[in-house]
Amino acid sequence: MAIDLGDKTVLKNYCGGRWVEPSSQDRVDVWDPATGDVIARTPLSNAHDLDRAVDAAEQAFELWSEEPPPRRARIMFALQRLLQDNLEELAELIVLENGKGIDEARGDVQRGLEVVEFAAGAPTLLMGSGLEQVSRGIDTDMYRYPLGVVAGITPFNFPAMIPLWMMPLAIVCGNTFILKPSQRTPLTAARLVELFEEAGLPAGVLNLVHGAGDTVDLVLDHPGIRAVSFVGSAAVARHIYARAAANGKRVQALAGAKNHMVLMPDADLDFAAEAIFSSAFSNGGQRCLAGSVGVAVGGAGDKLIERLAAIAESAKVGPGLEADSVVTPITTEAHRQRVKGWIDTGAKEGARVVVDGRNQGSDGGFWLGPTVLDGVRPEMSVAQEEIFGPVLVVQRSDGLDEAIKTINRSHYGNAAVIFTRDGGAARRFRRRVHAGMIGVNIPVPAPMAFFPFSGWKGSFYGDLHATGRDGIDFYTERKVITTRWPEPPS
Ligand code: NAD
Repeated sequence: MAIDLGDKTVLKNYCGGRWVEPSSQDRVDVWDPATGDVIARTPLSNAHDLDRAVDAAEQAFELWSEEPPPRRARIMFALQRLLQDNLEELAELIVLENGKGIDEARGDVQRGLEVVEFAAGAPTLLMGSGLEQVSRGIDTDMYRYPLGVVAGITPFNFPAMIPLWMMPLAIVCGNTFILKPSQRTPLTAARLVELFEEAGLPAGVLNLVHGAGDTVDLVLDHPGIRAVSFVGSAAVARHIYARAAANGKRVQALAGAKNHMVLMPDADLDFAAEAIFSSAFSNGGQRCLAGSVGVAVGGAGDKLIERLAAIAESAKVGPGLEADSVVTPITTEAHRQRVKGWIDTGAKEGARVVVDGRNQGSDGGFWLGPTVLDGVRPEMSVAQEEIFGPVLVVQRSDGLDEAIKTINRSHYGNAAVIFTRDGGAARRFRRRVHAGMIGVNIPVPAPMAFFPFSGWKGSFYGDLHATGRDGIDFYTERKVITTRWPEPPS
């Protein structure tokens, strides 16, 4: 372990500017996925613990919502600097509890940091609009207002970036915030909260409540919480969307994915095979933008399989802190078993296991090597369901239109990628594919802070997406004011 955890392993909630012992005694283990060692225990907060955070957030809202946006933005500038100064420490913490590669972990922080930079533009982003003389002597203006107390519920796979999709934007808009991070990766969340505090955020503006599903249900039912941002798996996203909306809350729920990567016969095969491999297998395939279905068009399939098998042969399956590790461990043993189960299912459904990662990796830890399933047909469950592990399924397709139809039949719509040298094919793909994040000769069309993260279909429940201007719209209420003043005597 490169990082000294000190007393960080004793996890507390953060309410009203203080670290407080949760009243619940229930805990779940947090592991180092590379060794299988228990490194901390996450508290499973109860209703009393959540009430404490909501009370603190409600109190803080009184003053924070009155704070001028330029002053709120100044805290984002300070936070940006702190995140940069502590990037390496945060990245190591992410590797420790999530298992991903150190470079990917640095990217995890960097992508979140870019949201902080975007949020620092709050005075411009929060501007309203107006039209003088909508009728004779009458003017109309639109202003933005914060919602109140809002909550964020986040997954394990991007422990820094995803909380940072939410907290800076919600807070800079004048809301107060409660974070319920993944119980699998609570250490990074706690460190982020410390940095917000150090940046000068007043007590109660940001609060942290640890827990799992039961704590989330308390959040969804709490009358003091006005809106919920969620990122996680599809089944939980549907639950969050339905229950929070039924309780009158504004909801954005970013969900699971099954992302297709189309290989056209004219593509640069060496480049595309490397890109497809890295998209499918980096971070153990645990990325919502990971390509998980390869669609080889017009006879490109055999060559692709050959290249993927050769890359797999030399790809190191190893711990995230070793910079030459290509495939890093799965975050929990339970999930590793689920992913293994999917490989068995694929084989039973008739797929050929051309690269088999089921028995790869060192002793201890939650290891799986890369697995490639060939001869997969669109109706097989391994072609349709999210596996969220280092498993790539490969399908063959006669032409681009058939490949696009395959993609559009998926109930997910997070991302889709094409590898080609043909601009016309790329344009047709871009226009016709039903997915929100499109890549052209890009393995992972990564989220950018200043654009919305645009999942479609079963990859997103809600109206306003995370980040970009959608984020500002999500975290503000608009008010339209129509004014008439009598003309003064001339
Ligand atoms: P998850 O759905 O298991 O957990 C996400 C959050 O929901 C956690 O905070 C967890 O405590 C909580 N939760 C879990 N079960 C719950 C339940 N029954 N009721 C209420 N809350 C519950 O997801 P995960 O395993 O942490 O993350 C992986 C998933 O997230 C994948 O499906 C991945 O595609 C998805 N993801 C999506 C995006 C996106 O932008 N669309 C980004 C990252 C991850």
